[in-house]
Amino acid sequence: MKTVVQKFGGTSVADADRIRQVADNVARTRRRGDRVVLVVSAMGKETDHLLALAKDVSSNRPGREMDMLITAGERKAVALVSMALADIGVPAASFTGSQAGFITDTNHTSAKIVEVKGDRIRSALEAGQVPVVAGSQGYSTDGDVTFLGRGGSDTTAVALAEMLGADSCELYTDVSGVFTTDPRLVPEATKIKRISFDEMLEMCATGCPKPAMRSVEYASRHGVSLHVRSAFTWEPGTWIVEEEPDMEQAVIRGITHDPSQAKVTVASLPDRPGVAGTLFRSLAERQVNVDMIVQNTSEDHKTDISFTVPHDELEATLAGVNGLLGELGASGVSASSDIARVSVIGAGMKSHPGVAAAMFETLAANEINIDMISTSTIRISCVVAEADAERAVMVLHKRFGLGQGDDAVEFGG
Ligand code: ADP
Ligand code: ASP
Ligand code: MG
Repeated sequence: MKTVVQKFGGTSVADADRIRQVADNVARTRRRGDRVVLVVSAMGKETDHLLALAKDVSSNRPGREMDMLITAGERKAVALVSMALADIGVPAASFTGSQAGFITDTNHTSAKIVEVKGDRIRSALEAGQVPVVAGSQGYSTDGDVTFLGRGGSDTTAVALAEMLGADSCELYTDVSGVFTTDPRLVPEATKIKRISFDEMLEMCATGCPKPAMRSVEYASRHGVSLHVRSAFTWEPGTWIVEEEPDMEQAVIRGITHDPSQAKVTVASLPDRPGVAGTLFRSLAERQVNVDMIVQNTSEDHKTDISFTVPHDELEATLAGVNGLLGELGASGVSASSDIARVSVIGAGMKSHPGVAAAMFETLAANEINIDMISTSTIRISCVVAEADAERAVMVLHKRFGLGQGDDAVEFGG
């Protein structure tokens, strides 16, 4: 008998009809002889609505109260899904994160899992029930309700799969898998059948929302294979797995874009040891998450440093840098929010020259200016104007032959 963890995202349980369809799928899985554990997100856009409501009510919003509020969304969903299962004769029991044994740290609004006890989930399974667990929540070491953060239900599912030694962990969503790029943007995007954890992590880190990055990190660390698939068509989706020796190595696996960062440039810094250390230590102390960093070669012992930070950390960044200008001996700081990062990802680029050239030439041919460039062994990212980002994704997707009906491509000179 196999044990399967199935996680359903917000759109998959958005209304009564969707909830009944999820229940029917659980019944089908059980008829195959499998044991099922469900993880459910808040219905539809409920998490967004609760966040907006909190903003309307309060400018203070203590983390403890935010978590009490947001976790109500998932709590409602698990009760309804359990009722729909009871209706079709499938014994089920709903569990909040704390009832399911998710112990977390005390970091409200983005708590980290410390331990998953899971005794009640095991007993429910042994009693022949389907445990229906509220995603993205737990109980802190201080005894308070905690929320794991946006997209945390994927992590709940992976953690349960690991704790139970489940045979598979299925993440059901509103698209049929992970695509070569966002299918809302490029309708010709194709579904990726198998992708390695390393490639998936690079895609998550550069703007692919599905699955949530933390869940892929957790799965990669604990060797839990993931299957991302559709709760609408139920067809086989994308497997995210450890890199296999015979895995088909695509030169480019996917293209992502991320408009959530802003660019900051500190001008005319003296070119001497310690300057970058002082600058980035001060930002770290302000909890700013710096992403790309580019330092120009120096002219007359002066250099510029540009870097990107999330939009909502820009204010803290500028406050920090402005306070340091004198100490650093810089001439000034400027910022731009209207940028986006476009990235091409693929493990095959390690052994394939010409990918960077092909990317830059394609952007140039479409008159898209590159502001910053950064690379890893399996990714090349360019910062471009936000207004050009979607067009950049479309032309690169075509250039690298990723769409249905696109021709195979050569990258060489
Ligand atoms: P859920 O709420 O089901 O957990 P999300 O709404 O967070 O899922 O993410 C699913 C959405 O991610 C899809 O509707 C799709 O438009 C978008 N998306 C963006 N890039 C990709 C990609 N490369 N592959 C698949 N989906 C993507
Ligand atoms: N409902 C929460 C969110 O939208 C948690 C989740 O779905 O993973 O972020
Ligand atoms: Mg979601």
